[in-house]
Amino acid sequence: MPEKVGLIGLGIMGMPMARNLLQAGFEVVAYNRTASKAEALAKEGARKADSPRELAAECPTVITIVSDTPDVEAVILGKDGVIEGAGPGSVVIDMSTISPRATRAIAARLKEKGVAMLDAPVSGGDIGAIKATLSIMVGGDAEVFERCRPIFTAMGKNIVHVGTSGMGQTVKLMNQILLVGCLIGVVEALVFGQKSGADLEKAINAVEGGAAGSWVLSNLGPRIIKRDFRPGFFTDLMQKDLNLVMEAAAEMKLPLPVTSLINQMYYSLQCSDEGRNAYSALVKVLERMAGVEVRQPETE
Ligand code: NAP
Repeated sequence: MPEKVGLIGLGIMGMPMARNLLQAGFEVVAYNRTASKAEALAKEGARKADSPRELAAECPTVITIVSDTPDVEAVILGKDGVIEGAGPGSVVIDMSTISPRATRAIAARLKEKGVAMLDAPVSGGDIGAIKATLSIMVGGDAEVFERCRPIFTAMGKNIVHVGTSGMGQTVKLMNQILLVGCLIGVVEALVFGQKSGADLEKAINAVEGGAAGSWVLSNLGPRIIKRDFRPGFFTDLMQKDLNLVMEAAAEMKLPLPVTSLINQMYYSLQCSDEGRNAYSALVKVLERMAGVEVRQPETE
């Protein structure tokens, strides 16, 4: 009998992750708040559950991949939540990006029922989710992590146990600090190049193999100059993550001058109703300040 895995949240990330579990031979039970998405997956071999409680009652391992901290709390601890269905010895793996502090509180509530929890947020975006090449950073009990390794391997490539409960989320927030720090450099350089009359396609090709090359430049740079801001990863979700960073930093009285500036710049996008664009739309804030729009040169 293949192992049964429950998955809650069939969004941009959860849907391809569920498909990869099916592909790897797991029996998948899926729940989505908007039921039509689970019906679509049922046609591909998954079973549809009517609530997180029902799903947890039949699955020894339950994955959650929903939007934000209150959403994870709702599907795990809320009415008809996972906690009402899960039995002792089962495992909850939260792969959403949420607050490290809230993660530890949810894990403590589950532990009272004999249910283990791993926080296992991911990096690699929708493409990584589709190709099963996600980086997965895992907090929680090391032995539980080892037991769940085949599940992670079905969805990701670089899978690292980084510490105790909540530490997966802390490392994910480090990932987001690194990501936006890199993105601000890329978009500032593109605006500078545009204003100076550079051919931005050639400029990206020229520098991406050198010391200033990066995943952000090579993957997001070409999309930005084509004015392709389809998500991927929503601006609203990146801002949610930066707010988690700033909240954790404030608890430590830790200054993060660069990240806090970028956090403010993302508010500017949200104020102009651009939260559902890809997070690379950060370039638009600098464009408005500079009075230019970065573009790939017209080809004759
Ligand atoms: P998404 O496409 O917006 O999907 C969100 C999912 O969560 C949907 O299935 C939604 O259900 C469900 N959901 C939200 N609130 C809920 C609630 N209160 N109760 C039940 N279900 C709820 O988001 P996503 O891009 O897949 O992101 C999911 C998580 O992964 C987020 O924490 C995000 O930060 C993280 N992440 C995303 C990426 C990326 O590139 N997209 C990369 C790394 C990490 P409905 O269908 O009913 O709305």
